[in-house]
Order: sequence, then structure tokens, then C-alpha cells
Amino acid sequence: MSQLQKRWMVVILAVSIVCLTFSLGVRQSVLSVDAPTQLPQQKLIALTFDDGPRRSTTTRLLDGLAERGVKATFFLIGRQIADNADVVERMDREGHQIGIHTFDHVQLTDLNQTDFDAQVESTRTLLKDLLGHNDFLLRPPYGKWDEGVKKRAGCPIILWSIDPEDWDDKNTDRVVNMVVNQARDGGIILLHDIYPESVDAALQIVDKLHAQGYYFCTIDQLFAARGLSLDPGEVYWNAYP
Ligand SMILES: [Zn+2]
Repeated sequence: MSQLQKRWMVVILAVSIVCLTFSLGVRQSVLSVDAPTQLPQQKLIALTFDDGPRRSTTTRLLDGLAERGVKATFFLIGRQIADNADVVERMDREGHQIGIHTFDHVQLTDLNQTDFDAQVESTRTLLKDLLGHNDFLLRPPYGKWDEGVKKRAGCPIILWSIDPEDWDDKNTDRVVNMVVNQARDGGIILLHDIYPESVDAALQIVDKLHAQGYYFCTIDQLFAARGLSLDPGEVYWNAYP
């Protein structure tokens, strides 16, 4: 082998090592972005909030969740989106998951296609135009669904496993105690971010369940961590192990 050939061999070898190192590095960073597969091996639970956004309460909730490093899932009312567009953009930007809770908070069962679209598709279009993606879950108001809702949903239908009925008496202590007592690995908590008392309750629930070793995640993260798929038109209540 000539001196020139040897020199080229060294150059090619060096370039190969640099390329390999770089591609491994990229692969590693892609994996770490893909958080659901790397969630800590601990108890997981999802906080979900219906009926917002409402500027005052939702903003305070987002502040409190950000302080605690917690991601949640918000099922939004379409007619409240335009006046709170910046709040919804913040949710999305800060890693919370977003879902549809109809345009006017109406029961979806027994609607014809036109009325269904006016409630669900119109809200989906608003969110799509605002956020630039089309990855939204559906939570039917009152938890009412039927075969028609499943057929038309166009996305997974997410219900819940823990419902303290926070709207009933707006009693922070009662809501906190009930949720903490019913907390279970893989559970889905239902609260409403339109009441100050529920925001207080949510943040206390986070602190108490953090102390019990729970990790709060979005619906997508929860199901991905459990190796469960979320399919359009299917109904989900929990991701118990
Ligand atoms: Zn609702």
C-alpha cells in the first residue's frame, strides 16, 4: 500500500468514526424526545380537565402545573377557544395534551351527522387552525357515548376512572381527599378547570400524590408507557397495569 493510500485509509476511518458517533447521538436524542417509552418505572396517573379554557382559573392552573413540572390533558369547549387562544397555545407549547369537549357542551348521543360535525368537527378545525396539528382526543360531555359517537369520533374517546364531582359542592378538601383515596396506578382523574376551588384541589392532589410516588402524565404518555394503543372510535377509562 502506498503512502498516499495509507493516508486515505486514515481519513476514511476518521470520517466513519465521526459519522457513527453523530448518528448514535442523534438516535439517543430522538429517544429522549420520545418520552412515553422512557417514563420512570413508577405509579402513573393522568389529570384531565373539562369545560375550559377559562382565562383566570386555567391560567392559574397552568402556572401551578408548570411549577411542579406536571403535564395534564385538557378537554376544551369550542366556543371558549377564540377568546382564550393564547391560553390554548400555552397549553400546547408547555406539553399538555388537548382534546375536544364539543363546541357548546352538548350531549353527543342521538345527534345526526350535521349536528355532530357542528359540535366536534368545528372544534377540531378551530384547534387545528390555532395549533397547526390535528392530534386531539374526544371526551363526550356527561360521559355519554353510543355507537354513533364511536363511529363519528375520528379519534380515541377518553372517559375517566376517578370523578370527585368537583362541580357539585366546590369543596376543595372533599375533592382532594376523594381523589387521593381513589388514586390508583393507571388512573384517569376528572376535574374542571373553570372553578377556583378545583384549581386549588388539583394542585394539592399533585403535591399529595407526588409524595406517594405518583408521576403525572398526559393521556398519550400514560397509554404509551403501558404499551396500550389508543385507537379512533374506541372508549378508554383507564390504563391500569
Ligand atoms: Zn363537561
